[in-house]
Amino acid sequence: MEPFWINMQDNAILISGWHRMGYTYNDGSYISELLVNHIKKLHQIVGNAVTDGRYIIFGGGSTQLLNAAVYALSSNNNSLVNPAKVVATAPYYPLYRTQTELFNSRDYQFEGDTSLWKNKKDINDTTFIEIVTSPTNPEGKLSKAVLEGPNIKTINDRAYYWPNFTPLPSPADDDLMLFTLSKFTGHAGTRFGWAIIKDKGVYEKMLTYMDLTTVGISREAQLRVLKILNVILEREDGKQIFQFGYSTMRHRWMRLQQIISKSKRFSLQKLSPHYCSFFKRVRDPSPAYAWLKCEREEDKNCYKILEAAGINGYEGSMYSADDRYVRLSLIRSQDDFDILINKLTNFVDNDY
Ligand code: PMP
Repeated sequence: MEPFWINMQDNAILISGWHRMGYTYNDGSYISELLVNHIKKLHQIVGNAVTDGRYIIFGGGSTQLLNAAVYALSSNNNSLVNPAKVVATAPYYPLYRTQTELFNSRDYQFEGDTSLWKNKKDINDTTFIEIVTSPTNPEGKLSKAVLEGPNIKTINDRAYYWPNFTPLPSPADDDLMLFTLSKFTGHAGTRFGWAIIKDKGVYEKMLTYMDLTTVGISREAQLRVLKILNVILEREDGKQIFQFGYSTMRHRWMRLQQIISKSKRFSLQKLSPHYCSFFKRVRDPSPAYAWLKCEREEDKNCYKILEAAGINGYEGSMYSADDRYVRLSLIRSQDDFDILINKLTNFVDNDY
C-alpha cells in the first residue's frame, strides 16, 4: 500500500504538544465517537460488515482484541470445573494458539483443531470458542464456523475481508467480528483494530478488558486513523484505495501463478472467481498469501527447499499443517515481491 499513500499528498499528520494530553475524550470515554462514525461509514461504503445497532470497540491491533474477546466469551463459563475450549480450523493463524497459551488462564485453554471436536458427544459439556478466519490466513478462502451446538461461541477474524484480498459476497453479520487497519490500508505499525459486537454483555466485558489492560487506545493512534480514513472517504466515495489494492494483489497473484504453472514440483492453493458486491461483478482471486505445496514425495520439508534457493516463507507446521506447505507473503513491498518472483523464476526454470 505504500505507493498509494505516497501519492496522497495531503495526509501528513502533525500533533501539537498540547493536543489530546488527557486520558479521555470530552464525553469521558476512551473511544473517539467521531472515529466510530467514520468506521461505520467505511463499512457501509465497502459493504463488508453490518454495523447498525452494533457496539464498536478499539484495540491495539486485532491482536489485543482477540484476547479481549476470548476473555469476554469465556468469563461466564463454569470455568473452574471446565475451562472454555478455544479452537480453530487448520491451517490457522499461529497467534490463536500462542496467545491463548501465553495467558495460561483458568477460564480458557487452546484445544487445537476443530476436527477433533466436530460431531463429538461431549461438545455440549463446556463452552467452545471457535475462531473463524475469513478469508483464511494462509489460504485466502472464505470460511464459516464448523462446530454446532448451544455452547459454541465464535470470534470472526475479518482481517482480510476487504476488496483488496477477496470478493465480498455480502456484509458480514457475525456475533463478534474483528477488523484491523493493518492489512487494508497497510498501516500495521499504527496498531489499530476494532471489534463489532452484537451482544451488550460481551461488549461491556471487552471494554473492561481494554480499560484494565491499557486504559484504551493511544489518542494519537486514533487521530492518525481518523486522518487516514478521511483521506480514503474523501476520494471517489472511498473506492480508490480498494481499486488500487485489488489490482496490485491481482497482478501479483497472476505473476506467481504464471511461474508456478510451469512447475511440476510446486502447486498453489486453488481459488475461484466469485461475485463481489463491492465491485458489482464476478472478480478473480487476489489473496494476501501463497500457500505453496511441494508435490514431490521426497520434498517433505518445503521450507528447507525454498530456503536453499534464498526464499524465506513460513513452514506449514506453524499453521498446524504439513511441512509440505510454505506460506509466502504477497503483501510486502514491491521490491520484496520482485525479488521473490526473480528467485522463484530461477528456481523453476532450472528445476533443481
Ligand atoms: N488476524 C490475522 C488472520 C492476521 O493475519 C493478522 C496479522 N498477520 C492479525 C489478525 C493481526 O493483525 P493486527 O496487526 O491488527 O494485530
